[in-house]
Amino acid sequence: MSLMEAFNYKNGQLYCEDVPVAEIAAKYGTPVWIYSENKFLSEFKAIQDAFKETDPVICYSVKANSNLGVLKSMNTAGSSFDVVSGGELYRVEKAGADTTRVVFAGVGKTDDEIRYALKCKILMFNVESEAELDAISRIAAEMGVVGPVALRLNPDVDGKTHAKTTTGKKGNKFGMDIERHNELAAKVLKDPHLKLIGIHLHIGSPIMTVDPYAQAVAKAAEVINHLRSQGHEINWVNLGGGFGLSYRGSEAPPASEYAKVIVPAIKALGCRLALEPGRSIIGNACVLISEVIYTKREGGKLFYIQDGGMNDLVRPAMYDSFHKVWPVKFDGDLPKDFEAEIPGLQPADVVGPICESSDYFAKGRYLPEMNRGDLMCIFSAGAYGSTMSSTYNSRPRVAEILVNGSDVKVIRKRETYEEMIALEM
Ligand SMILES: *Cc1c(COP(=O)(O)O)cnc(C)c1O
Repeated sequence: MSLMEAFNYKNGQLYCEDVPVAEIAAKYGTPVWIYSENKFLSEFKAIQDAFKETDPVICYSVKANSNLGVLKSMNTAGSSFDVVSGGELYRVEKAGADTTRVVFAGVGKTDDEIRYALKCKILMFNVESEAELDAISRIAAEMGVVGPVALRLNPDVDGKTHAKTTTGKKGNKFGMDIERHNELAAKVLKDPHLKLIGIHLHIGSPIMTVDPYAQAVAKAAEVINHLRSQGHEINWVNLGGGFGLSYRGSEAPPASEYAKVIVPAIKALGCRLALEPGRSIIGNACVLISEVIYTKREGGKLFYIQDGGMNDLVRPAMYDSFHKVWPVKFDGDLPKDFEAEIPGLQPADVVGPICESSDYFAKGRYLPEMNRGDLMCIFSAGAYGSTMSSTYNSRPRVAEILVNGSDVKVIRKRETYEEMIALEM
């Protein structure tokens, strides 16, 4: 299911699967997140299929989108989960998932989080420092259990992605230097409260070519072979997440392309494979719908001022990211290139109401004329969208709606002012 199958224009308006987006906006208000359940499930299934020869454990990365409705749906489809905090682990538990298939990453796991994860009997900790190994060992000893660990190694591979989301180059805060694998593995082997399960590498996100994965898996193979020669029983390779997402057209490689460079190497090792995809599963399965409050022309520019803002979707402000934007009501052919000049149309900045210049969704885009009350669709908003939203400018968090065929379900209610301040005194 492509993006334009999940969200498609029919009879002059945008649909999510079989439901007109404008109907959802009329009923639940704007701004509003609208999800296509079949879209994210089909992306999950495509990854499962592409890697099936390795009998992989696909751990959906909860931080990309942690809505309980999404987690429940992913759990029913057979997904495992990758968490980076106790709060995410709690969500996974509440979604009814089997926590023995959960992997736990993050450079700053607290004692409480480690204790909680050991209680949940998670599959493995992706350990990011020697000090963390000590902490897991100490807490496991207190609890009379053994902590399953994978060494998160920094492969020193350049993912060629945004500076804020590259993680696999030497000198960033993630993982441990790959050259130290032997010393670290020896430390784990000596410790009766730790068990070495595997190694973990995560290069960054989004990685738009398969080459960094080919490099990473080659380095993983070297490490595994070396550790085995030292007498370690080591059975898991976790290659993290980071698969690309097509924000513009179809620029990201499909899962099958990543599989081509990863599967043969994993099979040759005879290892189990874990993956932690987030963005590529949920990114194109959700849009943000906002309403044009005002249009104005100042400084020689046309502005469409939306009721949605950077507190809802912060990615453009935070990562200079590109999102397709287009009116919900539209009869005609969609542009092939949403960044190109379109004869007859005027360029506009699509901005929010927040008191920050970085509060925008798109700049200088050629759009059909829009007026007060018109609905705008911001595409590819599912990953790092609602999870990064805030109540900045005291704007309550907005509703999230899950669509499957003609079925419409609220998976998060719109917050009220009362709920927004409920914990303050
Ligand atoms: C963020 C993250 C992921 C998910 O990355 P995506 O680009 O969303 O697939 C996976 N693993 C780790 C360790 C992460 O930090």
